[in-house]
Amino acid sequence: MKPLNKIWINGKIAPLAHANLLSFHQGLNYGACVYDGVRCYASPNGVAIFRLREHLDRFFYSASVLKMKLGFDKKQVAQGIKDLIKANGITSGYIRPMAFYSEPKMGINILGSRVTFVIFAWKHKNQKQAKAIRLYITKYKRLSPQIVDIKAKISGYYANSLLGFLDAQSSGYDQPLFLDAAGYLAEGAINNIFIVKNKTLYTPTDKNILNGITRDTVMAIAKNLKLKVVERNIQPSFLKKAGEIFLTGTGVQLLRVKEVKGYYKNNKESTVVDLISKDYEKITRGQIKKYNKWLTIV
Ligand code: PMP
Repeated sequence: MKPLNKIWINGKIAPLAHANLLSFHQGLNYGACVYDGVRCYASPNGVAIFRLREHLDRFFYSASVLKMKLGFDKKQVAQGIKDLIKANGITSGYIRPMAFYSEPKMGINILGSRVTFVIFAWKHKNQKQAKAIRLYITKYKRLSPQIVDIKAKISGYYANSLLGFLDAQSSGYDQPLFLDAAGYLAEGAINNIFIVKNKTLYTPTDKNILNGITRDTVMAIAKNLKLKVVERNIQPSFLKKAGEIFLTGTGVQLLRVKEVKGYYKNNKESTVVDLISKDYEKITRGQIKKYNKWLTIV
């Protein structure tokens, strides 16, 4: 899906064509690019950006890991995102800030290289509930803190996600599920994982995963619903005892899993996922006052 026609680039709203991403640069060559994904929703008080502070904190952290000078502070970027939402006239959408080393030069020395900072937007159609998916435990292990700074969202890391995705697809499955180097469950290609068993939610510790903002939101909702949440190392065999399994991420929100090859099959109702999803929908749309602290009104 093509982004909307208005972008924010280096501080200004401009037509999409100004992104001009086609030349050779270090960002493309080495994955020296950081990004984040943010969503906005229609709320009774206007368009609301969900957990913008946390997304900006993560984005700025990612940039700092690559020693990237963005040239804008968080307040200015927050304003840029608001301006972009208004310029594109969206009420419900997906926003992607992205910054990359855009120096058209060879070599791995990115220090001091030029940075291009773009924010793209997409309109979100009134989404139907996504279909439950089938997961495949990929032969590729998840990146670990010994290999990369796992808390940053750096484009280059996604080669690992892509290889897992291709591995899952070539075996006839929708998405990969990664184990960490020690063989415990880690996460999906671009999502975190939860396993529900007897009204308790189990999820891997945040040691070897991207600490998702949706993951954090889901844990808060679950606790509020008096469901227990346990973060611990999880062996793949635990999937055999699962009642429900779901993935989380800003884009998909909560995504039901109907199969994990060799471990899990479920065509029954997903009552716990439904319960949490309902609250997630309401919170993002400003319908539960207590959580309005997570909304930034445009
Ligand atoms: N893990 C990975 C590897 C991801 O790329 C994402 C998407 N940002 C997530 C988990 C989910 O994070 P969030 O809920 O913050 O979107």
